[in-house]
Amino acid sequence: MKFDVVIIGSGLAGLACGIRLAEAGKSCAIVSAGQSALYFSSGSMDFLSHLPDGRQVTHPLAALSELAKQAPTHPYSRIGEKKVASLIYRAEELLRESGLTLTGSASQNHYRITPLGRRRMTWLTPARVPTLELECPFPCKKQPYKKQPWENVAVIGIEGFLDFQPNMVASALQKQGIKAQAQEVHLAILDRLRDNPSEFRAVNIARLLDLPENGSLLAEEIRRLSKGHDAIILPACIGLESDQIVENLQIQVGKPVYLLPTLPPSLLGIRINQAMGDRFHQFGGMVMVGDAVNGVEMEHNRITGVYTRNHGDIPLRASHVVLATGSFFNNGLKTEFDRVYEPLLGLDLLENPARGQWTRQNLFAPQPYLKFGVNTDEYLRPLKAGKAIANLYAAGSVLGGYDPLAEGCGAGVSLLSALFVAEQIISEAVTEPKSGKSRQPEQISGGEVTQ
Ligand SMILES: Cc1cc2nc3c(=O)[nH]c(=O)nc-3n(C[C@H](O)[C@H](O)[C@H](O)COP(=O)(O)OP(=O)(O)OC[C@H]3O[C@@H](n4cnc5c(N)ncnc54)[C@H](O)[C@@H]3O)c2cc1C
Repeated sequence: MKFDVVIIGSGLAGLACGIRLAEAGKSCAIVSAGQSALYFSSGSMDFLSHLPDGRQVTHPLAALSELAKQAPTHPYSRIGEKKVASLIYRAEELLRESGLTLTGSASQNHYRITPLGRRRMTWLTPARVPTLELECPFPCKKQPYKKQPWENVAVIGIEGFLDFQPNMVASALQKQGIKAQAQEVHLAILDRLRDNPSEFRAVNIARLLDLPENGSLLAEEIRRLSKGHDAIILPACIGLESDQIVENLQIQVGKPVYLLPTLPPSLLGIRINQAMGDRFHQFGGMVMVGDAVNGVEMEHNRITGVYTRNHGDIPLRASHVVLATGSFFNNGLKTEFDRVYEPLLGLDLLENPARGQWTRQNLFAPQPYLKFGVNTDEYLRPLKAGKAIANLYAAGSVLGGYDPLAEGCGAGVSLLSALFVAEQIISEAVTEPKSGKSRQPEQISGGEVTQ
């Protein structure tokens, strides 16, 4: 099978890259081994909330030059300040065009409320999740008369559902000066699920609550429990297919309804995955679901064939290949006792110190292993034995040089590197790397080279 581009991995990076390429008319296939980090994410997207030295960042675009000084191999530093500034708005547009309604903008971070009821700085948040402005969090001393739409909330959990604790959320909100009271709904329609704790999860609950015949039962309970409150916070266990179901509930109870992410699987993240997958399909993209790339064929420093588990010895052919396989979480990177490696091609890694320095004892300190990842040239082409592979690009969390957790930049790096790589491919601006030795075709699988 022949394509312009084969993308390995269908996470945020693979999908964003695929959408941009397919939109530009490239024939594009994504090989997807399984669920991406989106299924486990909050649904909020971080751009940059801290510098590597720990300083907080409120205005990410203004912090990029300092970031480049502190972390020259950070993907944003490789992409360049000007380019990041233009691609970040393109990323916002791409998400909007995929049908996602997100609060926030790259010009300034905001706070989202976490599943524990605390504040966390971020870039974009699903519109249903409660947020606070950075400069005027509640209660706002600068504008004391400013009213939040959720100053007096009923935090309503679901009896027996352990992945969301309304008491904990309400108590954390109270400590921030917000009137909040914890409640729990008991709905007999959930009893069968409740009897099996491993099945009593957000997505399964949503499949039942989203049924039209259950809407008014839920609304009646919520209306009763939220008397005297001006807004409602629920765990994100409703509206799996569409926000319209939450909108209908809101109309029935007559008060704003907000959702907080739960423990995985995350309905808010799954919605992003669905919306972006649909957008990719709309442009004619193909996703090979449940397949996995297990080797590549190389000739003259170019990938000439991509082998997958389901296609056996019939290679996928493409002019360009994008590696978007994620980090340790999705086997984009692997470890043995004293070795970290990129399993498909055995690529060079950034930040790969001795075993004893992978982690810090203090669990809450930034962990060095989070910065491990593939090393690239300035076009984000991965290096192998110090040399860029001519038609391979890397995007997303397989890249090294940044800490998505401590720097609060996970989704931003995935989206921006994906769009940057797509631009290189669309414009075909990149030249061959120097000193390309002519070689016989070779097959690479599992990071081992076999002639
Ligand atoms: C659990 C978790 C939660 C997170 N939550 C947030 C959050 O709330 N906000 C935020 O900003 N950031 C978050 N992050 C950071 C996250 O890394 C990025 O936001 C982003 O979603 C990563 O996307 P990705 O496409 O780079 O990788 P991934 O989402 O990991 O996707 C990689 C994909 O590649 C596939 N794959 C791997 N190997 C192969 C192969 N050989 N063949 C075919 N397919 C393959 C995998 O199956 C997977 O589909 C989170 C990260 C994790 C791990």
